[in-house]
Amino acid sequence: MKNISGSSPRTNTDSHLNDDRRRFIKAAASTVASVPLIGHAAAASDAANRPYDTIVIGGGFAGVTAARETSQRGLKTLLLEARPRLGGRTLTLDLGGHDLDVGGTWVGWSQPHVWAEVMRYGLPIDESAAAAADRAVWMSNGQRKEGPYTEYAKLFQTATDAFYAPARQAFPRPFDPLFVSGSEKLDAISAAQAVAQLELHPTERDLALSLAAINGHARAQDSSYLDQMRWIALGDFDVWNMFDNLARYRIRGGTKRLLNRIHKDSRAETRLNTPIRSVRQSQGQVVVTSTTGDTYQARRLIVAVPLNCLADIEFEPALNARKLRVSGERHTGSGTKLYAQIKGKKPLFVGHGTEAMPLCFLWTEYDDADSQILVGFGTSYDLLDVNSEEAVVNAVRDYLPDAEVTDFYTYNWNIDPYAKGTWCMYRPNVLTQDFEALQQSESLIHFAGADIANGWRGFIDGAIESGLTSARAVADAIQTDA
Ligand SMILES: Cc1cc2nc3c(=O)[nH]c(=O)nc-3n(C[C@H](O)[C@H](O)[C@H](O)COP(=O)(O)OP(=O)(O)OC[C@H]3O[C@@H](n4cnc5c(N)ncnc54)[C@H](O)[C@@H]3O)c2cc1C
Repeated sequence: MKNISGSSPRTNTDSHLNDDRRRFIKAAASTVASVPLIGHAAAASDAANRPYDTIVIGGGFAGVTAARETSQRGLKTLLLEARPRLGGRTLTLDLGGHDLDVGGTWVGWSQPHVWAEVMRYGLPIDESAAAAADRAVWMSNGQRKEGPYTEYAKLFQTATDAFYAPARQAFPRPFDPLFVSGSEKLDAISAAQAVAQLELHPTERDLALSLAAINGHARAQDSSYLDQMRWIALGDFDVWNMFDNLARYRIRGGTKRLLNRIHKDSRAETRLNTPIRSVRQSQGQVVVTSTTGDTYQARRLIVAVPLNCLADIEFEPALNARKLRVSGERHTGSGTKLYAQIKGKKPLFVGHGTEAMPLCFLWTEYDDADSQILVGFGTSYDLLDVNSEEAVVNAVRDYLPDAEVTDFYTYNWNIDPYAKGTWCMYRPNVLTQDFEALQQSESLIHFAGADIANGWRGFIDGAIESGLTSARAVADAIQTDA
């Protein structure tokens, strides 16, 4: 075996790793120290104490979009980002001969906000190799089964028809998630509790359970059943369309290409390497203080940090207790995403395992001339030790027993202090009890982010949606104030 990489101390010292790989390993291990810079460099510091119309904290898709929108409306805008790069939970790296996104990746045309941006900037789209898969691997009674994709698809359809049965009633208007009342019972139970009540064959039950697990990026017992229903509603109540939006189409060149275009259209001043420690509202203005003590003032503030990081910033007056509680409890997204390069050609395939497996999904993402890159997802780093080559190889071989893994790449977003998790799915009761409070502005402070979006919450689309709506709210408020 050669050139396996990860974040283990042993593989970090492998002499045959090239410079790019070393950089990636360092990035994965230290999480923020050595990732490449994208977007504008930080502006000169002479404007540090000048008041702005709007400050945006957080330079992911939500914050970058919000900054573009407010600045294009003529508002003097400052974008403050903790890391040495923009993009947040999206990160495109040159690995395995491809622009691999180790965070957010796929977009789809049922995702109106991101798709509009893709079309506006004329970005080309590539497809996952597995879109043409004709083989599938799944588990039945703990045994590996391999067969035609159509055989698996039949089982999957039965499982998902049962799992998603309440979706139409719960989300007749998917972009208005609280449109109907009376969904509290679905919100009070976990996806695992719901699956346990379904009349399904054990194989189909396992498929439903691991689908729920991967969608929540954690064990199915952690996420709200109601919140899981949202995804199929957003996918036009069709599981194949849902999957086309989740895992089929990606931007050629990676998500950074879209992010850079949005940022280039912004007139906001951008400061990288500026983690914010505190926010104070007084006398009609907001004062934002960085961890190094620099202060910035504005008439309005948009906070576009991940939900899981919100409680790390001190607010005066204190934020709504619900925001703080939900942030502290964290959303469920905390699993693994792994790319594995394998030698030679295999049939294009989709693998769908059980939620207890190290990887509960694995499929062919790139089909190269003499190798392939697979992408896999699991529910927890506790189930997959990415510091162990053997563990990773075994996780791949659960699906492809004779696979020869030549390299692998992963990034642990859970230990990244400015992410503290992956994509957002809510725990039970959050949607019906806390969601409105999470979105609610607090005097001069507005909130944005994929984690509190109305539609594709937990996605790039949701980030852009909330960037647009928060910017409009700020512009309206400033006009009213004037
Ligand atoms: C592994 C993985 C796979 C995913 N797959 C997909 C996918 O295929 N398709 C999809 O649409 N979505 C996917 N997502 C989700 C998607 O990437 C996110 O929902 C979206 O990018 C979040 O955007 P955001 O702007 O709301 O938040 P973020 O991208 O997290 O941006 C928030 C920003 O705030 C900054 N910040 C945090 N704290 C501070 C502070 N104190 N001071 C200053 N700045 C701060 C952070 O550094 C960050 O840049 C995935 C996510 C992960 C992790």
